[in-house]
Amino acid sequence: GPDRGAEAGERPEVAGQVISHPNRTVFPGEGITKLEVARYYERVAEWMLPHVIDRPLALLRAPDGITGQTFFQKSFKNGVPAHVNQRALEDGTELIVIRDVEGLVSLVQHGTLEFHPWLGSVDRPDRPDQVIWDLDPHRSVPWEETLGTAFLLRDFLEKHGLHPVAKLSGGKGVHVILPIARTQPWAVVKSYARKVAAEVAAMNPRKLTTVSSLSKREGKIYLDWLRNGRGATCVAPWSLRAREGATVAAPVSWDDLADLGPADFDLRSALEFPGEWQALPSQTLPVSLLREMGAL
Ligand code: ATP
Ligand code: MN
Ligand code: MN
Repeated sequence: GPDRGAEAGERPEVAGQVISHPNRTVFPGEGITKLEVARYYERVAEWMLPHVIDRPLALLRAPDGITGQTFFQKSFKNGVPAHVNQRALEDGTELIVIRDVEGLVSLVQHGTLEFHPWLGSVDRPDRPDQVIWDLDPHRSVPWEETLGTAFLLRDFLEKHGLHPVAKLSGGKGVHVILPIARTQPWAVVKSYARKVAAEVAAMNPRKLTTVSSLSKREGKIYLDWLRNGRGATCVAPWSLRAREGATVAAPVSWDDLADLGPADFDLRSALEFPGEWQALPSQTLPVSLLREMGAL
């Protein structure tokens, strides 16, 4: 509409950031422009920021839209955008960190489409505060089986007194996330994630696998536990995906999940969706459980 777009030559501001090339098409299929992408992130910032601020970010940039070249980026070689912090860890690794909506939109101004945070924060880069299982169905797997597996994994965790949440990837799968207190280092948490994946896969070995090799995943759902290493990332809740349909990685309740598909939310419908699991209760992984599972 006339009040949504930008006049030729105009440089509109979103969250105080000047958006260059506001009419550049990012999603050709939907005719969604860079300005609409920036406005989307401004509007979801309230829900999204708690999941991205102070966490090292990997960015998927698509400066020419999703049909152009896209690339993952974990640092800026020269010229860090306004409102964006780049800091170095002791080992010299450079990390991109934002603190506010200005930083979020500033990264969009610089071509970012997807936001992929670490599973930990910069203030304690040695201690993850989430465990993630990324369920990756082979294309031949009916969605109901992926859903069933997400619930199977949830029930397994619940049996141990743990309460995970779910996120539609906006692509093909679903992510099961367990917010944890920062009591264990990466290696222990990753080992725990692998053991859980293995125990769940053993319940239905014909359909589930924990092996990443593509040939072994034919007809199966891969329980990807490798997201849990230091420096690994997973797409943030509310992040757009650089895929056809302008889909969104959507945090959902377990009740809603049962009736949803992996790419059911997009730039427009996500805005009408009441945010789920905004305040994640962090749960301590009991040492006794870690021992029992063979992770310690
Ligand atoms: P889908 O449902 O289609 O699998 P997804 O986001 O789960 O979507 P995956 O390929 O399973 O996509 O990857 C899981 C996560 O791993 C991503 O969200 C991303 O953060 C990270 N990742 C994957 N590929 C790369 C890459 N090439 N560089 C950096 N991070 C990556
Ligand atoms: Mn996945
Ligand atoms: Mn994966």
